[in-house]
Amino acid sequence: MRATRAIIHLDNLRHNIRSIAGRLRSAGGAPVPFIVAVKADGYGHGAGRVASVAREEGAEGVGVATVEEGAHLRDVGFPGRILLYSIALAEEAAAIVELGLEPFVADRHYVRALAEAAEGSAAPRALPVHLKIDTGMGRIGCRPEEAAELAAEISGERWLNLAGVCTHFPAADSDDQSFTYQQLERFQQAVETIRSRGVDPGCLHAANSGACLEVDDASLDSARPGISVYGYYPSHDQRRAVELKPVMELESRVVFVKSVDEGETVSYGRTWTASRRTRIATIPAGYADGYNRLLSNRAEVLLFTGEVAGASESAMNRSESRTARRVPVVGRICMDQFMIDCGPDSNVRVGDRVVLFGPDPRGPDAEELADLVGTIPYEVVSQINHRVPRVYHSGR
Ligand SMILES: *Cc1c(COP(=O)(O)O)cnc(C)c1O
Repeated sequence: MRATRAIIHLDNLRHNIRSIAGRLRSAGGAPVPFIVAVKADGYGHGAGRVASVAREEGAEGVGVATVEEGAHLRDVGFPGRILLYSIALAEEAAAIVELGLEPFVADRHYVRALAEAAEGSAAPRALPVHLKIDTGMGRIGCRPEEAAELAAEISGERWLNLAGVCTHFPAADSDDQSFTYQQLERFQQAVETIRSRGVDPGCLHAANSGACLEVDDASLDSARPGISVYGYYPSHDQRRAVELKPVMELESRVVFVKSVDEGETVSYGRTWTASRRTRIATIPAGYADGYNRLLSNRAEVLLFTGEVAGASESAMNRSESRTARRVPVVGRICMDQFMIDCGPDSNVRVGDRVVLFGPDPRGPDAEELADLVGTIPYEVVSQINHRVPRVYHSGR
């Protein structure tokens, strides 16, 4: 296997799921069911493994963004409920039915397409759908005043089942929750209009990670956390209500070491010049792995020197604590490689391990890298692509 790999710490995933689930409480104080977002291949962590751990940890389902993502989960044998969080095309309706996905719906045309596909399937059964109401996200969802009409249409379809009614929060991760509370009120009012039409709205759900961690009233009948199960808060503005542990560790190994003299430059565009003679190591990872090129001359990695190749894991852990050190990325990050400045006196050797980001508090995490390039941890982890093998550690 190549040197660059993403270690997925499933023990941290379990810890995060338990921490978030432990915070969710209904108005009556009972635990609240939850659905884990595994779209974008489990935010880059591997949807199949994340989905099965989530199920073991009590999730009542998982959420995907595309029909293909749902098909992948079925291919790897995931037997649980799969919610389709985005709107698909009407022509994908047959596949949705076939795979037993539970789509979000927000307009009549799509509802009809799904009903027809469900009726036309070889063994027709009622397809569960979730009516999405736009209470302020401005993305998908019917208007609150249309919700009762649409809910009545769905419940009038023989081959559809209104499994739930839901909404989404654009600002639940901010330090001001007033907009989220306004949305909740709009949502509850819309749900009342549905009930007053004599239609059972099913399961009410709204809370993304921001709301799960911050807004107790948002838990409703079920919650939909995503980024928090992968170990990150959705934003800096949010109070650290529970301890979350990053799940992905992007690691690599030094494949080449050399000395460069003062005045010599490193990498494309010659953007970095050595100010002294120093030891430069080459790391076989680059922007084509999802390590953002904007991190050039900005990021640091955690370098482990002095490890004995082939040493047992426990011996390595002992030596790591003595020898782990942050060193800077120098010069432009290339498609497949980048360089680090290990310092003039470094004993860095080929084979030494580096961590580009991960849970080790001494090194960078995805939030630190996100800050350096003006994005969010979601993008940093989900950009690590299929060229990087995933290695699953259970931590047991
Ligand atoms: C991605 C997603 C979530 C999870 O959001 P996080 O901010 O990652 O917790 C919840 N609901 C919907 C509809 C989503 O698309």
